[in-house]
Amino acid sequence: MSDNSKIWLDGQLVDKSAATISVFDHGLLYGDGIFEGIRFYSGRVFRLEEHIDRLLLSAKAILLDLPWTKEEICQATVDTVKANGLTDGYIRLVITRGEGGLGLNPYLCPKPSMFIIAAAIQLYPEENYVNGLELITCATRRPTPASLSPQIKSLNYLNNVMAKIECIQAGVMEGIMLNEQGYVAESTGDNVFVLKNGVVYTPPVSDGSLDGITRQVIFELCANAGIEIKEKSMTRYDLYTADEAFLTGTAAEVIPFVKLDQRPIGDGNPGKITQRLIKDFRELANSEGTPCT
Ligand code: PMP
Repeated sequence: MSDNSKIWLDGQLVDKSAATISVFDHGLLYGDGIFEGIRFYSGRVFRLEEHIDRLLLSAKAILLDLPWTKEEICQATVDTVKANGLTDGYIRLVITRGEGGLGLNPYLCPKPSMFIIAAAIQLYPEENYVNGLELITCATRRPTPASLSPQIKSLNYLNNVMAKIECIQAGVMEGIMLNEQGYVAESTGDNVFVLKNGVVYTPPVSDGSLDGITRQVIFELCANAGIEIKEKSMTRYDLYTADEAFLTGTAAEVIPFVKLDQRPIGDGNPGKITQRLIKDFRELANSEGTPCT
């Protein structure tokens, strides 16, 4: 990120060097906060309302009363993109419980803090979209929804970070995370899809994944293309024996994976339907959205 980037912090656009948060902020002390990752393409924010709706649900779920309306948060997001003069990039919007005492008690944090970063991003090189990723199955499991719902996009990502460490130590960039029962949940930061006999399958979010905005876009793209798509609980068997497989997420977009635990998926190359969905996703992402001009 360039050093003259502007960060939206609690109502003001400030220089990156002035965008600071208290060490007593409970977002930092306890991971007590929520966030969204949002993309903008060709000067328009993709699915802004959907992201802010999900953010508001995360806030509600953790009993975080926000002093900003949905419209104000949307406007602040657009203003941040505009202030940074970018046409394509990634937005990180974070709301913390705010400054409080050293104890857990969130009621001692009088005011939440919100900051918004807009930056250029390329999570994976184009080559990975063309040739596909190699994945492992991580030993670290997704926590059960009974302890922390994966629907809350909270600042509690240590579980995913631990899984990411496993991936990097194994020499790959991503990994599949199973839930406590051994069913496929998601990757460390993306939803998982496979294709078998012409039908696209993805685990129901109740198996432990975030209800991804990009995941929802895949349902729309499949409906438009006449491709059958279903939710199904899956084990590693379903991934090992799939014809095609891909991940979806705001930062990763739609990206094929062609190897899992050193086994090739299908013929070991990105499949035709995956390639079509990548193309359709890119066309859609560049053709709609909330203008930043
Ligand atoms: N799962 C997890 C754990 C995530 O953090 C994300 C967001 N990167 C996703 C799935 C994908 O969600 P979305 O398509 O809304 O970015």
